[in-house]
Amino acid sequence: MKKTIRDFDLTDKKVIIRCDFNVPIKDGEIVDDNRIVQSLLTINYAIDQGARVILMSHLGRIKEEEDKAKNSLEVIVPRLSNYLGTDVKFSHATRGPELENLINSLGQGDVLLMENTRFEDVPGKKESGNDEELGAYWASLGDIFINDAFGTAHRAHASNVGIASHLPSGLGFLVEKEVNALSVLVDPVHPFVVILGGSKVSDKIGVIENLVKKADKILIGGGMAYTFLKAKGINIGKSILDEENIGFCQKVLSEYPDKIVLPVDNLVTEEYSNDVPYHTCDVENIGENEMGLDIGEKTVELFSSILDTAKIVFWNGPLGVYEFSNFTKGTERLLDKLVNINATTILGGGDIVAASAELGYKDKVTHASTGGGVTLEFMEGKELPGVVSISDK
Ligand code: AMP
Repeated sequence: MKKTIRDFDLTDKKVIIRCDFNVPIKDGEIVDDNRIVQSLLTINYAIDQGARVILMSHLGRIKEEEDKAKNSLEVIVPRLSNYLGTDVKFSHATRGPELENLINSLGQGDVLLMENTRFEDVPGKKESGNDEELGAYWASLGDIFINDAFGTAHRAHASNVGIASHLPSGLGFLVEKEVNALSVLVDPVHPFVVILGGSKVSDKIGVIENLVKKADKILIGGGMAYTFLKAKGINIGKSILDEENIGFCQKVLSEYPDKIVLPVDNLVTEEYSNDVPYHTCDVENIGENEMGLDIGEKTVELFSSILDTAKIVFWNGPLGVYEFSNFTKGTERLLDKLVNINATTILGGGDIVAASAELGYKDKVTHASTGGGVTLEFMEGKELPGVVSISDK
């Protein structure tokens, strides 16, 4: 068992909390602040305990000096201050006197946010490469380390594994909740049904290979389904195809013919657009100039009948181009089914969670994971360095 934030006396301690403030930003504005909201429980707890709180996070990818200007974490200070009801201080520096003086000036319950940890990636990839000196330096700034960044827990970076290897450490509430909720998928009860959608097979090969062994049924929809249909010799017209992975799909279909369930009908159109006519047809009847952008009614019925038997369901990836209102229906109908069955229901990965929030189902499932890649790796049974590196109880 790993220690959690509850296992420490935080009063007057300098507590470094690694958060995930990697929020989408467009034209300098925060588009979706869910990740900030999700981090509040842990930060508020530390404030209430009288800690001197030092927050760290990455934002975006920093490959060269020019990437820094548009990825400064300063953008989140007003929003975070507002949510916490306190003025969050900000250090533009990720090391040196400015940062150290600000930390030394913190009183009990004060909060400091340090600039984007990935600014240390230029030069030398020190953050992403888990540079020993950097992890030790950041650890020297605090007394206790709390990892509450689930989105990066599958990576060994200086700001998680590096710091944790030099300080007493614990999990924050968000990481604890994710690990607890997702651990039912590592050795699931049966029948275990998986729904996989999204655009590309290539992104999900590891998940398919792992889940096909554990799951009783894998229902495949979305763009991914067309590479599987092609692998069965069906003409998919202009539908999205992951040519390189046709062989992989053929192999999975031949090894597990009873587990993989593919769409039987779909909504097709001649252009990737919401503004052109569309109609439903069986998958065998897709025209040369047509592409499938959503599952059809017969497929909804087929998938629903399998969900009726499930004890646990994991869903990653939307079943159609849900960003277009004409092609949201399949995802919406299955979400509606999901919240009305007697099973543990888990959504994993950004797009299906975003779709479920937009369609009003997110709060009705057992767990909607905040992680993307990390959720899939955890399910594959891989150890998460950001969790493994935390002190044992
Ligand atoms: P992923 O990130 O792999 O979960 O993929 C999500 C994306 O898959 C969304 O942007 C959907 O629009 C897209 N998608 C779902 N179904 C289809 C489809 N039939 N054709 C093309 N893209 C799709």
